[in-house]
Amino acid sequence: MSHRAANNPFNLLGRSLEELREFVQSLGEPTYRADQIYHALYAERRFDVASMTNLPAALRERLARESAITLPQVRRRYESSDGAVRYVLALDAPENAGAPAGKPATVEAVFMPEENRQTICISTQAGCAVDCHFCLTATLGLIRNLTAGDIVGQVLMALHDQRATLKPQTNVVLMGQGEPLLNYDAVTAALRILLDPNGMAITPKHTTLSTSGIIPGIEKLALEKVRPKLAISLNASSNAQRDAIMPINRKYPIEKLLEACARYPLRPWEHLTFEYVLLGGFNDAPEDAARLAKLVAKLRVKVNLIPWNPGDLPYEKPNPARIEEFRRILNEKSIPAFVRYSRGQDVMAACGQLAVLESARNTSGPSLSQISGV
Ligand code: SF4
Repeated sequence: MSHRAANNPFNLLGRSLEELREFVQSLGEPTYRADQIYHALYAERRFDVASMTNLPAALRERLARESAITLPQVRRRYESSDGAVRYVLALDAPENAGAPAGKPATVEAVFMPEENRQTICISTQAGCAVDCHFCLTATLGLIRNLTAGDIVGQVLMALHDQRATLKPQTNVVLMGQGEPLLNYDAVTAALRILLDPNGMAITPKHTTLSTSGIIPGIEKLALEKVRPKLAISLNASSNAQRDAIMPINRKYPIEKLLEACARYPLRPWEHLTFEYVLLGGFNDAPEDAARLAKLVAKLRVKVNLIPWNPGDLPYEKPNPARIEEFRRILNEKSIPAFVRYSRGQDVMAACGQLAVLESARNTSGPSLSQISGV
């Protein structure tokens, strides 16, 4: 590794302990200095090497010259009346672990406080190539894969911004922009830091990766020593229906996806989560619920029903009576099902909406006045 061109400092963020050890060795320092940097950065959340007082002054000065900690920059911050905070973040650290140079990107992260915990929803790609028809991020296409530093940085940034009110438990969900399993190496590198008891110490039980159903990625993830819980974004009860809203289904159809789910090695405490966005008049009929119940009957699952949150897309909000009926049919077949309303609806809740607006703002400059809190 060559680290130290003066105009290209080594970004410490997103580096594994092994990478940091290699870096400090290249500076002629003992490897335990890497352990100290790793702990200060990820466990103590120190983002300025000058504050890493566990390091000798001379090393701090050298690190200040030759390294950087490039956190995502908060471009906008929207506070919802329900307490959720949505961040539009600029990620422009091309030196960060292999990101393509000259490609600044905007993504979003959401912080959702609850009574005894907080949940942070993060992005894994800027834009997305998967093209789910109910998702505004899809309209961006793929801008770029995020680096491990970009991904870990979103959690660090949110925890730092909310440090005054943090609860003891943090949940992380990889459900923001992007398909995590199509940015596999960076996502798993970030997860190893997030889930490391000596790193950010978030537990696998409190971390969920959501996929549109990329079967090779699911199969690879199954072999990882360190892995989060897995959620599948299903959203349909038949191939014809899923083909119509998720073109990825033509490549990985429901029956193959469910076979991969059946092979997925669940830990004793674990279940799969199936997410099902209820699109009014499209996939929310009682027959859909009955078909869905049949599809997942043999799996250890729970189903999260997510009523469609109207945005700029041609779907209807499902009727509350139909939502309840859908849930009841699943429960009757002994499938745990829960209705999850998106947090922060008044500051745009659907996947990717803020970034889409941000991208439009940067090009044609439309008004954001429709978003309360701006
Ligand atoms: S729902 Fe997720 S996978 Fe589908 S286009 Fe949107 S960001 Fe990509």
